[in-house]
Amino acid sequence: METRTSLLGLSPDAMKSALVSAGVAEKAAAMRVRQLWNWVYVHGARDFAQMSNLAKDFRKAMDACFTLARPQIVTEQISNDGTRKWLIRGEGGQEFETVFIPEPGRGTLCVSSQVGCTLNCRFCHTGTQKLVRNLTSAEIVGQVMIARDALGDWPSTGENRRLTNVVMMGMGEPLYNFDNVKTALAIVADGDGLALSRRRITLSTAGVVPMIKRAGEEIGSSLAISLHAARDEVRDVIVPLNKKYKIAELLDACRAYPGVSNARRITFEYVMLKGVNDSLTDARELVRAIRGIPAKINLIPFNPWPGAPYECSDWEQIEKFAEIVNRAGYASPVRTPRGRDIMAACGQLKSESLKQRASERMAEMRSTELARMPG
Ligand code: SAH
Repeated sequence: METRTSLLGLSPDAMKSALVSAGVAEKAAAMRVRQLWNWVYVHGARDFAQMSNLAKDFRKAMDACFTLARPQIVTEQISNDGTRKWLIRGEGGQEFETVFIPEPGRGTLCVSSQVGCTLNCRFCHTGTQKLVRNLTSAEIVGQVMIARDALGDWPSTGENRRLTNVVMMGMGEPLYNFDNVKTALAIVADGDGLALSRRRITLSTAGVVPMIKRAGEEIGSSLAISLHAARDEVRDVIVPLNKKYKIAELLDACRAYPGVSNARRITFEYVMLKGVNDSLTDARELVRAIRGIPAKINLIPFNPWPGAPYECSDWEQIEKFAEIVNRAGYASPVRTPRGRDIMAACGQLKSESLKQRASERMAEMRSTELARMPG
């Protein structure tokens, strides 16, 4: 078993403290952090031995205390449209998914923030998996690093990177894992780190209203809101979080989102559910509700999953809906479903991991302890 501490996902200050407690002199620590940071996040080093400009003794000392190992890839699936999905095993064995979506001239990584989810949105497959736990900042940053490894995308500062955008749209609700998401995205956005500008990072939330302002101030990424309905009666059912934070409050938080402007619009995601939220009246209510917010509306054809209680709207209906939104002055792109054949499209992610009850965990610990005891 790995007993060394991981250096991945630590803030610069936390890395400095880790080095000092491993015996690095206080005076040298800041410089050491800069050197390691560059090897790890710009060059993707997985091993201290690679760090050719650092003294051998220092590398040895680091290797004795720390690891740079990524979370483990369990399986990789490649869709016939080129989308790639990785099932990743985190600390403690729980599993989560990450999806890479290549497009001409860019590539987007869809990153998970939790194993499972608490929200239970009725149309979302992840919502049928109970929350297992929050991902650590190492596991969040690790998803980007795993993708860079697989895509041959090092150094991070290179010219023709395939991974150009990150969306926090995988499993989980990022604003319910605020601190780890914030720490991880600071590393992703760091020009001397994974080097994606904050504009190319989008955080999507189902509407955790009290955290939206902080997200703008402290994370500063682009914001996407999973709106999906313009009327509380409908949204209460399909996004149950709406019972806690109503549409009007959510939209007020969007109006006040730090940095929002015509150059930095908020994306509203709107899943097209046949007969539920896709009438032309719904479209008109939608544009009325968001009036005054610099926004674009991303229409997402519903992606099916086994046992889902909804169907995707008809194509003509999606087009008519899009036209009303568009005529009201909002860009209304219809998101092309990607990776459906490997269950990698929006809302299709899920893993087998279950939350163990405390009693089960105790029983497991006891049996491994027994197994370890000399006979
Ligand atoms: N919890 C965050 C992050 C998940 S993002 C959030 O809700 O924003 C995943 C996006 O896919 C969300 O907009 C979600 O509403 C949407 N989605 C979920 N299930 C879907 C499905 N079956 N078809 C299409 N989109 C779906």
